[in-house]
Formats: sequence, structure tokens, C-alpha cells
Amino acid sequence: MSISLRKHMAKLLAATLAVSAMATASAAALDQPVAVLSSNLNSSVGTVLTADEIKTAEQSLAEATAKAKAEAEAKAKAEAAAAKAAAEKSEYNSLLTAPVSTKTVAYSSSLLASDAIKSNATSLGNYKLTFYCPCAVCNGTSSGKTASGTIAAEGRTIAVDSSVIPLGSRVYIEGYGVFIAEDTGGAIKNNKIDVFVSSHDRAYDLGVQYANVYLLG
Ligand SMILES: [Zn+2]
Repeated sequence: MSISLRKHMAKLLAATLAVSAMATASAAALDQPVAVLSSNLNSSVGTVLTADEIKTAEQSLAEATAKAKAEAEAKAKAEAAAAKAAAEKSEYNSLLTAPVSTKTVAYSSSLLASDAIKSNATSLGNYKLTFYCPCAVCNGTSSGKTASGTIAAEGRTIAVDSSVIPLGSRVYIEGYGVFIAEDTGGAIKNNKIDVFVSSHDRAYDLGVQYANVYLLG
């Protein structure tokens, strides 16, 4: 075997070993063959090698390269998925802990359920939403107090079937945002939620809506 052929063989073996060892390397690193090993291997490849042996080495290199590339790609994909899940978990945790501020209740497409909610909350399905105010017509007794003892506030208080959604739960109503299950109502059973608003006109105007509901926490 000529010197140049032996050197070629040594390079192939070096590259094969280098690539095989790169399971944890990035795909980009595969474009930089590790030359350090080739000089070490040069001395060990002292015997005459046949064309078949060289062909086998070339095949091994191709296989090892493809394997390392696939492993690097799989690793990058897994890392991206883990990073996305961590970001979603963090966003979700802030929904669980941030104070539920009072706000004007209105549908907004900016309040559709995010991936963070969809992958972490419990989906309760599609609910019928009605709206009520503190007046005697809406509220019966009109004491102003909710079933859980709080003073109802628009943007925070909703009435639920407490056998489905326990009082005190944080609830995400798609298109409307985060609320707290503070109240109950005689007609509020199963997949119905009565959303508190501050005036009877607004309760009337909002009418009846349907929305996907998620139980947070
Ligand atoms: Zn009313």
C-alpha cells in the first residue's frame, strides 16, 4: 500500500472514531473533522490494507456521520421542546400566583388560551356564560356578598357549580381571562358560569356567550 493510501486510511479511521464519539456534539461540529486523532492513528496503521478494507472504513465513516448527525438533531429537538415547556410552565405559574385584578369584562381575541394554558391547565370544555350584576333582579337577595363571603368585583368574580369547580378556584375563560370562582347560583349548574359585571345594563348587553373554560392550578 502506498504512503498516500495509508494516510487516507488513517484519516478515515480517525474521522470515524471522532464522529462516533460525537453523540453529544452539535450538528455544526460535524463539519470540522478532528485532525488530532489522525496523527496518532497514522502510526498504528502500519499494515497493508486492501481496497475492501478501505471501502468498509468509508462505509463506517458514512454510517457514523449519519448516526451522529441524527443524534445531534434529536438532541437539539429535545432541548428546544424542553425550553418551550419550561417557558410555558413559567408563564402558567404567573397565572396561578399573580393577583386577579378587577377589569371590565369583555371578549378579546388577545385572551385566547395560550399554549401554556392548554398544556398545563385542566380543560373543562365549552361553557355557557351568562352575566349578572348586584341588583335584586340578577341577585335575588342583593346582599352584595358572594357565596364565599367576598364582595363581588367585575373581572374577578364568577358564579359556578361548586360541585364542578370548587369555590376559590382560579378559572381561565377563553377570550375573557382569569377569574376566581367566588359565587354560586341556583341556575348555575354543570357547564354554566355566571360572570359578575357592575351594572345591569352591561349584564343585559353581554347576554349569553359560549367559551372554552380551563381550571387553573
Ligand atoms: Zn342586574
